[in-house]
Amino acid sequence: MIFPIDKIRSDFPILHQEVYNRPLVYFDNAASTQKPIRVIAAIQRYYEHDNCNIHRGVHYLSIKATEAYEEARKEICEFINAGNKREIIFTKGTTESLNLVATTFGKRYLNPGDEVISTIMEHHSNFVPWQQVCLERGARFRVAGLSSRGELDLEELYGMINEKTRLIALTHVSNVLGTINPVKEITAIAHQRNIAVLVDGAQGVSHLPVDVRDMDCDFYCFSGHKMYAPMGIGVLYGKEKILEELPPYQMGGEMIKEVYVDHTTFNELPFKFEAGTPNVEGVVGLREAIHYLNELGMKEVASYEESLLKYAMEKLSGIENIRVFGTSKQKASLVSFLIGNIHPFDAGTIIDKMGIAVRTGHHCAMPLMDYLKIPGTLRASFAFYNTTEEIDRLIASINKVKEMFK
Ligand code: PMP
Repeated sequence: MIFPIDKIRSDFPILHQEVYNRPLVYFDNAASTQKPIRVIAAIQRYYEHDNCNIHRGVHYLSIKATEAYEEARKEICEFINAGNKREIIFTKGTTESLNLVATTFGKRYLNPGDEVISTIMEHHSNFVPWQQVCLERGARFRVAGLSSRGELDLEELYGMINEKTRLIALTHVSNVLGTINPVKEITAIAHQRNIAVLVDGAQGVSHLPVDVRDMDCDFYCFSGHKMYAPMGIGVLYGKEKILEELPPYQMGGEMIKEVYVDHTTFNELPFKFEAGTPNVEGVVGLREAIHYLNELGMKEVASYEESLLKYAMEKLSGIENIRVFGTSKQKASLVSFLIGNIHPFDAGTIIDKMGIAVRTGHHCAMPLMDYLKIPGTLRASFAFYNTTEEIDRLIASINKVKEMFK
């Protein structure tokens, strides 16, 4: 199939503008993706026709808004092939999903002496909550390292597993290295020892087809804004059996069943974890983004993005004095690099003035930066609306940076 790139680009109004008198090149997709016009339109339509607080309302608008919200849950369930709707919890985003699991899993399952294993490539959002809950519960937080290509050191990871291990928390795709972790294999090994597996899917779900039942992970977390939907909405997938056993995270609103002066009973799944008025607008936008992705086809998206990655890696390897971080065989479409000894912030500022948005810094992965002994990187992360011509402009801007720092 030929990827309909011109049509796709026309779906994203924000891409068609000039910054500093040059056409914008947006390569900060790992931080947040842009939104197709139909997602923006779905939100406007929702406010013009359906807006209301959901659940428990008997009137027309409340029923309509509730239907839109619950229909979205069903479609998200299908999108990631979850077992049923009770396994789909709406949250603010990946960070909230991860905090929800770390807090409630910690309360329910972590005792002094227990162990949680994570990896050195985690985003802070999947590192700090586990580190902190382990400190609180007297448990041990262990961190597996990497190979020289930036792949997870599986031997080290498996060597850490013992009878005290309760959970492995790892990312599906590294937001710095692009490494795609073999989560299915890790889950299979963990489950032989009765260890739960949580997968941070923030960078996975927008690039790869995701099938949580095939992966067999116990939890999978992601954010709408990294998959062409609005900010402030995200998902926690959890296996029903384990979600049933976890205590509620926040109290109030739809998570309540009955309240008495001396005790309270809680609603069933998924509502048990959805306290307060939810972000219905975000859910409506997320649903539309999923329709869009389904129409494009996640396999086609993955294969087009792979061609962008291959092109970028080849072009970068042709420039002298570039250090690329993350050369895993299984890699998503982003490149992290340094240009000689030039500080990433200085290089990023010059690249920006050429109309190209790349991210600079530690990418919320300070333990990884320490591990690699670098202050940060420049990161160009690609989406399916990017082109090889845009990558050529990035390469030209890198050459310009080199010239200026000669
Ligand atoms: N995990 C990974 C791998 C990420 O890339 C990000 C976002 N940069 C997060 C977690 C946090 O996502 P959010 O800010 O949407 O909660």
